[in-house]
Amino acid sequence: MTDTVELTKTLVFQLDIQSDNVELLEEARLECRRVFNEVLRLDREGWDWDDIDDTVTQNADLVNNTAQRIINKAFDAIQAYYDNDDWGRPWYKHESFPLRMNYGEGYNLFLEDDESVRFRLSAKPYKHVKGELRGSPDQHELLERAMESDEWRVGTAEALVRNGGNELHVTITHESAEVREKSTAETVVGVDINEDCIALAALTESGIEDSIVIDFPEIKAQRHRYFTRRKRMQQADQTAFNELFRTKEQRFVHDQLHKVSRLVVRWIQRFERPIVVFEDLKDMRDDIEYGTRMNRRLHCLPFAHLRKFITYKAAWCGIPTDDVDPAYTSQRCTRTSCEHTERANRNRKRFKCCACGRQDHSDRGAGISVAKNWLYRSNRNVPALNTLPQVRKWKLRCSQE
Ligand SMILES: [Zn+2]
Repeated sequence: MTDTVELTKTLVFQLDIQSDNVELLEEARLECRRVFNEVLRLDREGWDWDDIDDTVTQNADLVNNTAQRIINKAFDAIQAYYDNDDWGRPWYKHESFPLRMNYGEGYNLFLEDDESVRFRLSAKPYKHVKGELRGSPDQHELLERAMESDEWRVGTAEALVRNGGNELHVTITHESAEVREKSTAETVVGVDINEDCIALAALTESGIEDSIVIDFPEIKAQRHRYFTRRKRMQQADQTAFNELFRTKEQRFVHDQLHKVSRLVVRWIQRFERPIVVFEDLKDMRDDIEYGTRMNRRLHCLPFAHLRKFITYKAAWCGIPTDDVDPAYTSQRCTRTSCEHTERANRNRKRFKCCACGRQDHSDRGAGISVAKNWLYRSNRNVPALNTLPQVRKWKLRCSQE
């Protein structure tokens, strides 16, 4: 038995432009930037948001829904700022934008008899850039499948420049990909995400299979450097510099989190019928009981992103995910006959049970508690866990440009 979820994948192609008007793409990207900045500028000037939308759409020298995508993106940035000031107020973009297009409207793809794929990008209204896609055989195969099969659809694409070459990033979506049903899981992988590491514990009804802590101190350090710098910049009112660092920082953190999520899913795949279980962090902002640790995690940590990436990559492998109640997972002793819960059990990364004396890495312990919570909730047998394996650690190696 399976559940179905929607999955999206991005395919990367090089553009072999044959229409002799490559400059149109760069012009369109600059126009996208202008449109984005225009929305932010009018918002700062206090315009009514509906008027901003209408005015900017009318003035944009872009295919209509391409302009609309950029405008939405600018509004998303404004919205994110109002929701949660993690990165500060959105600032004007100085680098050129990727040109984002809807399939069938902003761009089109044509499968030829020789299995090559031709493209037509509407960089500006009625002005097309044409040529042929170049890419690896597996990317071509996935694209072909998406164009021809009923289960798949071709979505938006972005035309951008990378390493000096023009690329097209095409999203394809499988509308009903299958993940195994949660109830059939045999290995429960409890996940505990922190600012500087992620802890994973794989449990079955009969015991612990394995556990691991993946450290990523560089992500934490980079974020802290950024926030300090941002504060200083704001004081000096150097907002342009601020924007430059923000973009670079966000990209770095984003890439690193993707790397972490790949490692995590690779580790999980080795187990028999796994399910990935996270702490449910919804509705926790106001709950004083969970204290500053949780609040900090919710507000300034990459929790949401990392969780999303893992969920997604797991689903591609057919692996389901679930949530459990997060209450006190980090303070509870993992020995099933004890489960003594007290704040004093934990001292940063060290866990020592005040009742039975068990010592552990506190984040690994939290991962175990998450997995146990899922077993309890599913009315499964919960293993005794009288002994635990040594904590294994991986460290994420970062290459920064
Ligand atoms: Zn204990």
